[in-house]
Amino acid sequence: MCGIFGAICDGAVSNTLKALKLLEYRGYDSAGIAALRNDKIDVYKTEGRIAALQELMRGVPESDVAIGHTRWATHGSVCTANAHPFLSPDKKFAVVHNGIIENHLQLKRELGNVRFTSQTDSETVAYLLEKYFDGDVMRTLLTVARKLQGSFAIAVLALCERKIYALRSKSPLVVGTSADGVFLCSDVRCISRWASRVAVCPDGSAVEISADGVRIFDFSGAPIQPDFFVPERAEQAAGANGDFMLKEIFEIPHRLRLAKQGYVNGGGLRLSVAEARRFRRVYLIGCGTAHNSGLQAASSARRLLDVDLLPVVASEFIYGDYPVGADALAFLISQSGETADTVRAAERVASLGGVTYAVTNTSESSLAFACKYTANICAGGEYAVASTKAYNCQLMTLALLLSELGVLRGSVTAQSHAELLRNSDAVPDAVAQVLDKSADVARLAEEVARCKAVFFIGRTTDYPTACEGSLKLKEISYIHSEAYPAGELKHGTLALMESDVCVVAVSTDPALKGKTASSVTEVTARGARALSVAPYTFPDATPLVIPQTDPFVAAMVSVVPLQLLAYYTAKRLGRDVDKPRHLAKSVTVE
Ligand code: GLU
Repeated sequence: MCGIFGAICDGAVSNTLKALKLLEYRGYDSAGIAALRNDKIDVYKTEGRIAALQELMRGVPESDVAIGHTRWATHGSVCTANAHPFLSPDKKFAVVHNGIIENHLQLKRELGNVRFTSQTDSETVAYLLEKYFDGDVMRTLLTVARKLQGSFAIAVLALCERKIYALRSKSPLVVGTSADGVFLCSDVRCISRWASRVAVCPDGSAVEISADGVRIFDFSGAPIQPDFFVPERAEQAAGANGDFMLKEIFEIPHRLRLAKQGYVNGGGLRLSVAEARRFRRVYLIGCGTAHNSGLQAASSARRLLDVDLLPVVASEFIYGDYPVGADALAFLISQSGETADTVRAAERVASLGGVTYAVTNTSESSLAFACKYTANICAGGEYAVASTKAYNCQLMTLALLLSELGVLRGSVTAQSHAELLRNSDAVPDAVAQVLDKSADVARLAEEVARCKAVFFIGRTTDYPTACEGSLKLKEISYIHSEAYPAGELKHGTLALMESDVCVVAVSTDPALKGKTASSVTEVTARGARALSVAPYTFPDATPLVIPQTDPFVAAMVSVVPLQLLAYYTAKRLGRDVDKPRHLAKSVTVE
């Protein structure tokens, strides 16, 4: 959600434009760049995608200091006036901001009778810098930092200083250096294209980057030593058809192998027997797709563990009085590791004495820093806003971690755990068999695209798969969609069944096949059309037959046809599958 980049190097303007293109998946409603000139700061900004900014900036002269922003609006409509950067009234400071300044209305009152050019919370920061400027930019920045409440990563240009200043509180920010320049960015994977050494700016820090390097301070002005590491260089290339989502779905078999290897090479769960036996409740906390992976892992592992497995939506967990003490273990699940709700939930667990365990795709993330333990799901960079491969890898990682927890607690035998490790080796091939049938899914998508609503149903371990299938379809096709436990449909929602409604039944447990068959008949008898995703067929549903796998790992396979169905339906409707309306990746605000 929102990308920030800053560069001090030759060609800083064109490098910043290139970086914004890579950060576009984090926010894509408007974008802008500020370039430092000898006697002024020039700002270029526009509503729309980075392509529109590229067009606007054609022929603009280079500079060796620039900052840029790609926006996901929280305060103020999507328009050029609300795009970042913002200049202070005296035009001596330019500011870009990711996050929310929660006390902006109060700060605006404090600023008195001034005219703002935008409706954003962010512009306030530029005005505060002008008001409190005391001749020293870093000192002024610290004064302003202490006035701000909320979440912010802010980059600042100051006239006549060949430097970039920045503040970080909660929203992500990293700095990096190379032989060619000094950089800052919202995202480690993006900055690794420019920087050979990278440091995460600590929460609550102020930063100055210049040709002389990087200086970091806490908000009281005390210096902090940057902790540099060598980042993994990440490629970001769309698939042959031009989008990321299909390419990322087709990576699932390979990424599942890496997720399992990551678990083994990372030393597994790494809890002691005494620690594992202390827990009376295990929370699985996440948002969106990561919440669904928590639901799924809990539902699959429930029969293995003698402890309560409690999946909770992160934003509910923060304020919902869920009991936490030393007897609570929380798995905090987030692809980016920057999901604000999930990071706040981790902080709550830690502050109440519970054990925090990050399950993330980004080991250098805020979530990993906030948690005692981290498991990397090894899904590789995911750039389509709708998550796919990260979900499958979260399921793999959580299944292995929870089974090992069972071993330590004595409810799972070492042989069963070894069997799970063997069974998990069969999953990538089973997924590959589903991918071989993608043309069949594309054909079914033609019909789904004509429906006004789609309901996904499943029982027990298939219900979370239904939730994820439904989320995927609504987020990228904009077709109204809901998920229900199959047996629940008749308690109200059956009233909605008619001919332009489709019901997708997921069924991987042969023992419950008969029950789901009844649910299918109930909807088709009322005129709806039914599809099934199962290793067998149903008399009344058009089948997508998937391979039979061990029930504990089946969800990693059965979700794949639903990911493909969402993709092909959205394509059929002409949607922008990688960048659906109103959404963005890596939701860094609460
Ligand atoms: N709150 C700011 C705005 O609405 C920043 C949003 C962002 O992080 O992109 O402009």
